[in-house]
Amino acid sequence: GGALYLVPTPIGNLDDMTFRAIDVLNQADLIAAEDTRNTQKLLNHFEIETKQISFHEHNTQQRIPELIARMQQGETIAQVSDAGMPSISDPGHELVNAAIAADIPVVPLPGANAATTALIASGLAPQPFMFYGFLPRKAGQQQQVLNELKNEMQTIIFYESPHRLGKTLAAMQEVLGDRQAVLARELTKKFEEFIRGSLSELTTYANEDARGEYVVLVAGKTPDALPDLSSDDDLKQAVADAVA
Ligand code: SAM
Repeated sequence: GGALYLVPTPIGNLDDMTFRAIDVLNQADLIAAEDTRNTQKLLNHFEIETKQISFHEHNTQQRIPELIARMQQGETIAQVSDAGMPSISDPGHELVNAAIAADIPVVPLPGANAATTALIASGLAPQPFMFYGFLPRKAGQQQQVLNELKNEMQTIIFYESPHRLGKTLAAMQEVLGDRQAVLARELTKKFEEFIRGSLSELTTYANEDARGEYVVLVAGKTPDALPDLSSDDDLKQAVADAVA
């Protein structure tokens, strides 16, 4: 029978494509891609000849019935976005819900994702965490969301484009206070870099030279009750305690 496969693609480094993702794309009847030209480069690289159909935020309503009908006729469809996991700040969610409603199996593949990749090297508490994605662009709406997040105790993960980064970090500082935060830049790529500091320090950085792709991670409201082992003084004390 038909099925919907959700296939992650690399977020920069093509070697992060999984063997299974290649296999599923090869064997699918059709690939539903956010940008078929972009995905074609990936398919060429891995010598995958499966045909594609566009599936993006502007044709979702039109495409879903068509894709569901194909799967009901027994086709397997692999959905991909431009990078990383489908549905995560990318198209996919509505198609997943339609497939669930139509009793079509939905099969997710694990793989590249900018948020969790950034989180595990950030040094911020890995759990609990919340993924927000892109904040609203309009200042008023953005401020409202930040206000709602103000008492959040979890590490919060955002996506942001480089040209809005400075402004967004400044807004975060204004509403959340000058918390610790991390910018994870160009993950899996040549210029991968982690910039750690307070929101005001990171704002200064971003206003000077924000280039490439960034994940923004912000510490939750309550500071860790445990000693902060990334601070020299706390670490010295903890080591002294340990040998005492
Ligand atoms: N679906 C993707 C995922 O699973 O991570 C996210 C797609 S979203 C449209 C694109 C945003 O993800 C970028 O603006 C950036 O914030 C983040 N991003 C994607 N790739 C990245 C990378 N290599 N390094 C840092 N951030 C990245």
